[in-house]
Amino acid sequence: MKQSGPSIGAARVLGALAVIAALAVGCLGFAPVPSAAQTHSAKADTAANTAESAQAQEILNRLIAEHPILRGDTIEMGDAEGHQAVAYPGAGRIVVSPNHTALLTRIVAHEAGHIVDYRDNGRIDWGENVHL
Ligand SMILES: [Zn+2]
Repeated sequence: MKQSGPSIGAARVLGALAVIAALAVGCLGFAPVPSAAQTHSAKADTAANTAESAQAQEILNRLIAEHPILRGDTIEMGDAEGHQAVAYPGAGRIVVSPNHTALLTRIVAHEAGHIVDYRDNGRIDWGENVHL
């Protein structure tokens, strides 16, 4: 009896894709986001997040121009799973915590580095909080 028919192969491929989509790298050597109470109003935070999202996209666009392997990747402010930022290399997505304390330019460059690292050989070689 054969070990793998076409349907099993397809299931394996789908399983692998699911793993890739779920792969996340929580960053950084940047300390986790402090959970201190927020003093800003929700409205001010929303405006700040919108401005910072645009800034982050601008930084990422410059990196994409230099490194076309990053083309199509997106970045947004949002839930970074308790980290300053998180990269989803399989999905080409970066999420930055609104509470990050490291410079945005440094964060974007670092997260983009994870995506390049992943696309280089299909592995995250940088370590740090890799979730599957
Ligand atoms: Zn990292």
